[in-house]
Amino acid sequence: MRTLDDLDVAGKRVFVRVDFNVPLKDGVITDDPRIRAALPTLEKLLHRNASLVLAAHLGRPQGADPALSLKPVAERLSELLGRPVALSPEVVGDASWDLAQNLRPGQAMMLENVRYEAGETKNDDELARAYAALADAYVNDAFGAAHRAHASTEGIAHHLPSAAGLLLQREVETLRGILADPARPLVAIVGGAKVTDKIGVIDAFLDRADAILIGGAMCFPFFSAQGHRTGQSLCEEEGIAPAGRALDDAETKDCDLLLPIDLLCGEEFSADTTVTPIEGVNVPRHLMGLDIGPLTAEKYAEVILDAGTVFWNGPMGAFELPPFAPGTRRVAEAVAETDAVTVVGGGDSAAALAQFGLADRVTHLSTGGGASLELIEGRELPGVAVLEG
Ligand code: ADP
Ligand code: MG
Repeated sequence: MRTLDDLDVAGKRVFVRVDFNVPLKDGVITDDPRIRAALPTLEKLLHRNASLVLAAHLGRPQGADPALSLKPVAERLSELLGRPVALSPEVVGDASWDLAQNLRPGQAMMLENVRYEAGETKNDDELARAYAALADAYVNDAFGAAHRAHASTEGIAHHLPSAAGLLLQREVETLRGILADPARPLVAIVGGAKVTDKIGVIDAFLDRADAILIGGAMCFPFFSAQGHRTGQSLCEEEGIAPAGRALDDAETKDCDLLLPIDLLCGEEFSADTTVTPIEGVNVPRHLMGLDIGPLTAEKYAEVILDAGTVFWNGPMGAFELPPFAPGTRRVAEAVAETDAVTVVGGGDSAAALAQFGLADRVTHLSTGGGASLELIEGRELPGVAVLEG
């Protein structure tokens, strides 16, 4: 993969694709780690006397929706960089062209939300060429969007000297390192809502990991495949067959596929419901499993504390509801405490770590949920492939 060291940027204009898809509430940014994560790349380029044309997407606008303007993002970035960041009122056109032409070394501007242009997600080549015309070189630091072949993540790279930014490089090297040469034992913790979202990751780890710890609502398709009762639990119907297949595969592979041995149940998905712990995993008809139980949490914690490498994606339960946060919290604490290399991917897993104040206690917190899963599955990311070879 070409990196910043392969690119001559002094006195040049560099088009930098970043992942600034931050959560907004009433036009105010509620959480800015994604913006902060791009700062090393931006500062390095500015330090090398480049000027920056920044491009990012925000949400899924239908046309130029002012509610999804990058204005608050440009303002926050300007504060963080300690220099002005002019926001063009459009993506490509005369205004963006003029702003770009007038950039001096060390200055930065930002295009409006690239998804205002319909051609962005279609990887339209005319749009890619219009982006390329704004700059002399292209840097992609948007790991969270690297699994999409869009005009600003893939198309543009065909028209300019191009390289990965520091964040993209670190994400790809760290995640590939887990697959290639992990310190053993390699333990994967996979949770969350749907098994079909993560079956590719489970399959990949069945071939590579020493243990896989399953939690979250996605344990119910496994239990259903084993003939247990799941009660009112969230149990993805289409997940039952793939879960059954994974259980069969695990028999022949050198990997322990661990499922919960006890559960915390409630009557409904609510913080006010009565909490009923159950031993075993047969959920009574009127209850739903909303967290792993304490025996499971302790057992998982032991495996994590003995690991050499840990990959975690997906919470162990409905951690947003305080009575059902303990399982996810115990796992998060073990991930924070273990001497293993720890890599966490996934929006809700990252939110859980932040909720417990442990976000800075892991080796690597991935900024890309979908992109990190696809890399682990061994799939090629279009935004990365175009920077290779
Ligand atoms: P990530 O974003 O880390 O990849 P997911 O999006 O797959 O994670 O899953 C997170 C969601 O799964 C959370 O909203 C959580 O409430 C839900 N969840 C986890 N366990 C359960 C459960 N037992 N019942 C219902 N929902 C659950
Ligand atoms: Mg999620």
